[in-house]
Amino acid sequence: MSKVLIIGAGGVGRVVAHKCAALGDVFSDICLASRTQEKADQIASELTRPIQTARLDADKVEDTVSLIRSFSPRMVIHVALPYQDLAIMEACLQTGVDYLDTANYEPPDQARFEYSWQWAYRERFLQAGKMALLGSGFDPGVTNVFCAYAQKHLFDEIHQVDILDCNAGDHGYPFATNFNPEINIREVTARGRYWEQGEWKETDPLSESRVFDFPDVGDRRAYLMYHEELESLCLHLKGLRRIRFWMTFGDAYLTHLRVLENIGMTGIEPVEYNGQSIVPLQFLKAVLPDPASLGPRTQGKTCIGCLMDGIKDGQPKRVFIYNVSDHQSCYREVNAQAVSYTTGVPAMIGAKQMLTGQWHKPGVFNMEELDPDPFMKDLNEFGLPWRVQELACDGPSPLRS
Ligand code: NDP
Repeated sequence: MSKVLIIGAGGVGRVVAHKCAALGDVFSDICLASRTQEKADQIASELTRPIQTARLDADKVEDTVSLIRSFSPRMVIHVALPYQDLAIMEACLQTGVDYLDTANYEPPDQARFEYSWQWAYRERFLQAGKMALLGSGFDPGVTNVFCAYAQKHLFDEIHQVDILDCNAGDHGYPFATNFNPEINIREVTARGRYWEQGEWKETDPLSESRVFDFPDVGDRRAYLMYHEELESLCLHLKGLRRIRFWMTFGDAYLTHLRVLENIGMTGIEPVEYNGQSIVPLQFLKAVLPDPASLGPRTQGKTCIGCLMDGIKDGQPKRVFIYNVSDHQSCYREVNAQAVSYTTGVPAMIGAKQMLTGQWHKPGVFNMEELDPDPFMKDLNEFGLPWRVQELACDGPSPLRS
């Protein structure tokens, strides 16, 4: 029986709260805390059993510390924003509780997408006998576990990984983002980067693309981007030669994004307006549809997976391990679209592994450093079934120009 504190009542927080509430034998008591308490209250009102809610500004370490002291959870599931990662890790260390998140720490004034700040906490978590699990969403998260599973069961050596993220959902708006617009746009407008033969290679933003035949979706064009799981996976996969990340975007999304970028609306440097300092990207977030409101209107599927090439028993081998989720099925189950669902379910599953002791060990870890088997089993059980597709390795690459 374990108490858990969930921080963040956005799209992902809603899914985590629904999924934890449905699993009373693991998550005995739940507190959902967020900057705007009304949002936490709204989510609480949708659940089948009562949970506590609280108002919390998690940028303030002392406020998180006092909430943890009064609720006394075993762990914190942090699904607010990446800006709060370090403050919440600090609060967990001060109170002696475990920590889990779904996105790497981001300094508010620079888009960096790197783990260095959080990896710097390894020694302190180790000394405290507490665990921090980083990136327990879908990508990062399930994609890391897919790689660990492939390394353990499907390959002797994995040589190439292409992580492919397709959202073929349609929400009917000319332009909206499926998760926090500020984080999403920072990610998409950054320079592309991938790892090859021990070196990082850079590309201009969205300048490289390939078409892939996504199962249950069909052909979609995916664009090369940097994504944070590349940083840990290139360290942990044996024999790896190259790892890249690709995400699909429709033409309308890209056209809007280009215009917004060209006119300066995606900038993160503050500008002065009528005596006020305004960050253009934060203002843009305020006028775009709230991702949480997309749930009822989004139709279609997501397909996210890892295309891997390597060697098994001396023979070349190529597989695609993936999950397909349907926006409307997710909405019917937890009032959220598939992008929030595919992030929130792995956050719950990661927390379950930690609380039940399957994954508990002191230190700071990325997902591929832990045994993939119990997590893969739970993906099938709790709403994210996965499949392994064997592909021919003698023909042309399944990633077409
Ligand atoms: P939302 O913007 O929908 O929700 C964020 C929530 O955090 C909001 O309720 C917000 O409060 C709250 N919040 C923001 N700042 C604070 C603060 N200082 N203290 C307390 N609460 C705060 O985001 P999502 O739910 O879409 O995403 C949540 C996280 O999941 C993000 O870190 C995102 O990067 C990550 N993510 C990870 C993915 C993966 O696959 N690994 C995929 C998608 C998202 P308010 O309502 O007041 O604004």
